[in-house]
Amino acid sequence: MKSWDRLVASLKRLPGVGPRQAERLGLYLLRASDEEVETLLSAVRDVKSSVRPCRRCFDFTELEICRICSDPGRDQGLLCVVEEPQDVAAIERSRGYKGLYHVLHGAIAPLDGIGPDSLRIRELLERMTAESGMISEVILATDPDAEGDATALYIAQLLKSRATVKISRIAHGVPLGGDLDYIDERTLSHALAGRREF
Ligand SMILES: [Zn+2]
Repeated sequence: MKSWDRLVASLKRLPGVGPRQAERLGLYLLRASDEEVETLLSAVRDVKSSVRPCRRCFDFTELEICRICSDPGRDQGLLCVVEEPQDVAAIERSRGYKGLYHVLHGAIAPLDGIGPDSLRIRELLERMTAESGMISEVILATDPDAEGDATALYIAQLLKSRATVKISRIAHGVPLGGDLDYIDERTLSHALAGRREF
């Protein structure tokens, strides 16, 4: 069954999906109604064609400039740097933060071939230049693991040499090795509140 093998191979590429889950998902889709499958496919197509990175913060949005970036009620002086769009969602759920974001789309991971140039670090520096009069603090909220720490250190060094803004790192209390978006809202809120200057 060539088409079956192709489906399972595609599903296996999804994050967190192993060979067994790929087969289970494949079977589910095979048994689902045409309508359900079409709803899924059209949702994927719509997202691919209409969602893109915000021109300012690089979070995903259907707009040129996302809802958070264009909200005049947000503190324009605070800039929180995170690895992934789901980290923005996690911090927003914690409701303790009213500043802006910058999404890197990953962390520096030399073993996986991900260097600074693969991330939105150049865009962060350009933004710091363009918005230099506005930003007073950059909060480095990359994941509390080896890659996240290395990324935070790298960015802190770049910013220290070119800007006079305060640079801080989210506090520990965030479980080591954790993904930011898996951390519960209270812990995340404390981690942000207890941030320390780099
Ligand atoms: Zn934005």
